[in-house]
Amino acid sequence: MIKQKIQELSKNIFNDVVANRRHIHSHPELSFQEVETSAFVAKKLDELGIGWERMADNGLVALITGEKPSDKVVALRADMDALPITEANDVPYKSQNAGVMHACGHDVHTSSLLGTAKILTELKSEFGGTVKLIFQPAEERLPGGASLMIKEGVLENPKPDAVLGQHVMPFIDAGKFGFRSGQYMASTDELYVTVKGKGGHGAQPQSNIDPVIITAHILIALQQVVSRMAAPTNPTVLSFGKVIANGATNVIPNEVYLEGTFRALDEKWRAEAHIKMKKMAEGIAESMGGSCDFKILNGYPFLINEPKLTAATRAHAEDYLGKENVLDLDIWMAAEDFAYYSQVADACFYRMGTRNESRGITSAVHTPTFDIEEKALENSIGLMAYLAVKQLGN
Ligand SMILES: [Zn+2]
Ligand SMILES: [Zn+2]
Repeated sequence: MIKQKIQELSKNIFNDVVANRRHIHSHPELSFQEVETSAFVAKKLDELGIGWERMADNGLVALITGEKPSDKVVALRADMDALPITEANDVPYKSQNAGVMHACGHDVHTSSLLGTAKILTELKSEFGGTVKLIFQPAEERLPGGASLMIKEGVLENPKPDAVLGQHVMPFIDAGKFGFRSGQYMASTDELYVTVKGKGGHGAQPQSNIDPVIITAHILIALQQVVSRMAAPTNPTVLSFGKVIANGATNVIPNEVYLEGTFRALDEKWRAEAHIKMKKMAEGIAESMGGSCDFKILNGYPFLINEPKLTAATRAHAEDYLGKENVLDLDIWMAAEDFAYYSQVADACFYRMGTRNESRGITSAVHTPTFDIEEKALENSIGLMAYLAVKQLGN
């Protein structure tokens, strides 16, 4: 049976996958600069005899076609970029690039997909259909490698019937995987706001237009967008983490500068909310004699796991891992550029547990102490291979 063969191959190649992960981990590269990582992936694909093509500069796309007759296509996606963080872990595979670290597990996703590719090449005679491997750059930075790969045609010729992707999750034990049907991750927009007034002596408010008080009103009022205008069933987040009023005890400043984030799980609501926030902030500032420059930088869209595909994928995961190792996920209001695939194709993005509390491996992603329990890789390579052949109807 194909499941047993995949499990056996996963065991056999596990050490190579770990070695690849450690190589990539120790040579991290920032978004849009994944030159060495991309060359490493290309070399590994060459060794496997898999043809590949470059896309979006450092991205790669490759095809593995099974020998049984089928014209179904499934795409498997990994991201390759690292973050501007200095690694604090004292491990043999510690980052060798100062100030850059694979703190979001993209080294894990890339090495895992190479492992899956190895398994699938060994099993070509056992399945029908085509597996499209997507190694994309720049998940961590706007406009997102996924959007560029899609623009350059990664989802065409051949067009995948489904796109699958995985991401490490340090809150789930290694060996377990998590799924969620429907809305899963949020759209994320950056807000840059300047509230303008007229500064002056703090003792003479009647001569000034105080942008600090105007800002206070705006900050409170904007929460109405979340609490009164969004349906209670429609998850929405508005947070301002930066508020600068650079006056003094007795100085009212000319302006106040704000930065914040707006997150949602519905594209129609997202667009409406942008207009409402801008109108409200401008209106309040104007009514108090000031003005407001409300800039929104659009980030990734929200991520939706297509229900039918996700149900099938989850069932296959239970079959491969055992029911006890498959969990349900909550909505996660962070963003992920996999969302772009999910907006134009049937897609499923699932989580790979990487936690091992007994070894102290518990740090969140995007922190200097993030690491994974590498044992998780044995299941992740096999699971993705199994999900692919099952999705292809084998
Ligand atoms: Zn990240
Ligand atoms: Zn990530």
